[in-house]
Amino acid sequence: MTAQALDVPPDDLWDALVIGAGPAGCAAAIRLAEQGRRVLLLDRHRFPREKVCGDGLTADAVACLARLGVEEAVRQAAHEVPGLVAYSPSKVEVEVPAPFLTLRRERLDALLAERAVTAGAVFRQGEVSDVRERLDGTVVAGVAGRAEPVRARFAAIATGATTRLAKGLGLVAGGAPSGVGIRCYVRSPVVLDRMVTFYPVCLLPGYAWAFPMGGGEYNVGCATLRWRHRAWRSLSQALMAVLAQLPLTRELLERAETVTPPRGAMLRCGLEGVRRLVVGRIVAIGETIGSTLPFTGEGVAMAIRTGEMAAEAIGNALAADSPALLNAYPAQVEATLRPRYLAYRAAQAAAAVPWLNDFLARHSREGGVLRGLLTGVVTPAASSRRLRLLRWAFRTLARWR
Ligand SMILES: Cc1cc2nc3c(=O)[nH]c(=O)nc-3n(C[C@H](O)[C@H](O)[C@H](O)COP(=O)(O)OP(=O)(O)OC[C@H]3O[C@@H](n4cnc5c(N)ncnc54)[C@H](O)[C@@H]3O)c2cc1C
Repeated sequence: MTAQALDVPPDDLWDALVIGAGPAGCAAAIRLAEQGRRVLLLDRHRFPREKVCGDGLTADAVACLARLGVEEAVRQAAHEVPGLVAYSPSKVEVEVPAPFLTLRRERLDALLAERAVTAGAVFRQGEVSDVRERLDGTVVAGVAGRAEPVRARFAAIATGATTRLAKGLGLVAGGAPSGVGIRCYVRSPVVLDRMVTFYPVCLLPGYAWAFPMGGGEYNVGCATLRWRHRAWRSLSQALMAVLAQLPLTRELLERAETVTPPRGAMLRCGLEGVRRLVVGRIVAIGETIGSTLPFTGEGVAMAIRTGEMAAEAIGNALAADSPALLNAYPAQVEATLRPRYLAYRAAQAAAAVPWLNDFLARHSREGGVLRGLLTGVVTPAASSRRLRLLRWAFRTLARWR
């Protein structure tokens, strides 16, 4: 899927302008186009474009992709992994027999953008330099290299961890991101049939990973879910040294050749730094509002959810020509997503304490309540009541530090 250069007539009034074609923006564009709305989806990059990510798709993410109508295409392109093995700081091993898919994000996001186009959206390349609402009730967006602005009745900002547009509108605060991660691709003759994660003390509350991509290729990376000055440099130094501490990944890396050098990106998690989700006729979705989960750093499923919720609100606002109906979107985020973020944040705080991380790992190996708690976090299909219980349990544990 290659986005063409922006060639739309200047006097067009789109029902919705979606800025950014990652999972959040594509989900919003797909849902709105399915409602028969005229949607312009813009991304600053030519697709397919690289996106720094672990490329792991949980069962939850696959369920979201299925709702958007891309599950089959994703399964055909992806590599299936039967489970994950996690190592605590003292290398206590925990097997999580949950299935995952891995797929390079350049491919996943291209499939999503392609689906938006088949649903009826117009997808073009264009970097939005500013976006604002005018007094006549339209949204105008300046696009780099184009004299005339793009006009729409509503807009969604889905620019990921790049928050300049959202900050300019007072949607997010100017603070630091939640974390930073790096990853590279390597090829190795050593076969690793599971995802591996390792929580060494130097990365807490983050972790290092090696995820099989199929065909002898691995996505190898690490992230810290706490913003640290100059974290990029220390992460690059830590990556190989940390994974060399595990016998499983040591051999893999010793015999590996580098396919791509390490590249980094920021993470915005747990709705951190968000002031509001709506201003006038403009909403913000996905990682721009910190939709990525604390503790695990998974973001594809949650980005899609925010895109779908915003699209529903925009659809209703378009039908009634009432921007006030956009407020259903923040209400839904608060009611359905906030409890999950709070539980994950509490899990992250507990896992950030090395001895508690070891303790949780040891006890979850032996079964019982703690394993149930951990499984509730790793396989997130939990009810609000269960999430509240998880949050309470992790916060209580973290107080023992
Ligand atoms: C190191 C790392 C590892 C990760 N691993 C995983 C993982 O294994 N599994 C998982 O589920 N999640 C993972 N995540 C999180 C995941 O990458 C994000 O949560 C997800 O990409 C958020 O989707 P999004 O659509 O909000 O933003 P993005 O995917 O970042 O998409 C934003 C889009 O907006 C475009 N854009 C930006 N500014 C403009 C502009 N001004 N005009 C037009 N377009 C613009 C960008 O080009 C981009 O295409 C990881 C993140 C990092 C950093």
